[in-house]
Amino acid sequence: MRTIDSLGDIDGARVFVRVDFNVPIVDGKVGDDARMRRAIPTLEALRDKGAKLLLVSHLGRPKDREPEFSLAPVAEHIAKLLHTDVEFAPDLDSVPDADVVMLENIRYEPGETKNEPELAQRLASLADYYVNDAFGTSHREHASTAGIIPLVKHSAAGLLFQSEVDTIRLILNHADRPFLAIMGGAKVTDKIAVMGKFLDVADVVLVGGAMATPFLKVLGHSIGDGLCEEAGLEPAREALEKDGYPSGKLRLPIDLVIADKFGGDAQVQIIQGVDVPDGWMQLDIGSKTRTEYVAEIRKAQTIFWNGPIGAFEHKSFAAGSLAIAQAMAQTEAVTVVGGGDSGAAMAEFGLAHSVTHLSTGGGAALKLIEGTTLPGVEALKKN
Ligand code: AMP
Repeated sequence: MRTIDSLGDIDGARVFVRVDFNVPIVDGKVGDDARMRRAIPTLEALRDKGAKLLLVSHLGRPKDREPEFSLAPVAEHIAKLLHTDVEFAPDLDSVPDADVVMLENIRYEPGETKNEPELAQRLASLADYYVNDAFGTSHREHASTAGIIPLVKHSAAGLLFQSEVDTIRLILNHADRPFLAIMGGAKVTDKIAVMGKFLDVADVVLVGGAMATPFLKVLGHSIGDGLCEEAGLEPAREALEKDGYPSGKLRLPIDLVIADKFGGDAQVQIIQGVDVPDGWMQLDIGSKTRTEYVAEIRKAQTIFWNGPIGAFEHKSFAAGSLAIAQAMAQTEAVTVVGGGDSGAAMAEFGLAHSVTHLSTGGGAALKLIEGTTLPGVEALKKN
């Protein structure tokens, strides 16, 4: 993949920068701006080279030009982060010739998500140079993430994009060992291919959260009323078989925190073992599992974590995820958090800055790990 240094002399030139400014808008203002901040090094590097920036992003999934999806508040906010004036272009026909311009939500253009060639051509005509720093959308083949690339003279990955891809390649191909993968969250079917990959390349794979339930069920344990994806049972059975459980790489909870319902006012108990009575559901790992999992984290030299290890949004079920997060924050190992809800958990515990790499692209990161070709990454290799 080409880097921004390969663009050569861009002094005075306009660079079309695809960023991921898909941030929450609260009362007409940007809420959590972590994603925007992650793009700043690329934007500053380009400005240091004398380039003019045309910033292009999507926000949400507009069907029409609904005002709640406007990037106007984002334009105001990026001006503050860059300490400079930012002009706002409400549509493609009115892009001013200014140092920094933020274009209105690219998904207001119907051709964007369909990767329509006419739109890609129009976008390409706006700049000679293209930089993609929106790793989180690189699994989508859209006009601004893929279609435009063969139509511009020069293209490159931004610094954030590059570090996302490099980090995943590094852990998959050159991880320091022991290499530990931690898989949690709710949907086994979304993550089973990733788990399969880790069963190949990692040394130990810890499973927690609702992800653990189909595994426990397949092993003959009662799961009570716990969240258990039916379609996850067969993949869980195959993973256990492939692993040779219990003498392989997979580790499952050995005790659990259970509740009579999902919520803050639930009755809660800790059970020894993993058989959940009817009327109850497992919502977190128990203290013995916590100790075992933390010990694995302390032994590891490389750690990848995706998916909370319990229903961490409620305090009663956050201890497992908190223990994982704290142990990751304390270790000297290379620590990578796969974004999404485990990233949210890290942020909630105030530990987001303590990991080596927190991915901005949960879905894209998982796809890259499972070996799926990402259109946004492929496009940057060609041309
Ligand atoms: P995912 O998007 O697959 O990473 O799932 C994240 C969600 O899984 C979070 O909202 C958690 O509350 C939820 N979750 C984690 N563990 C459990 C559990 N044991 N039972 C129900 N939901 C869970």
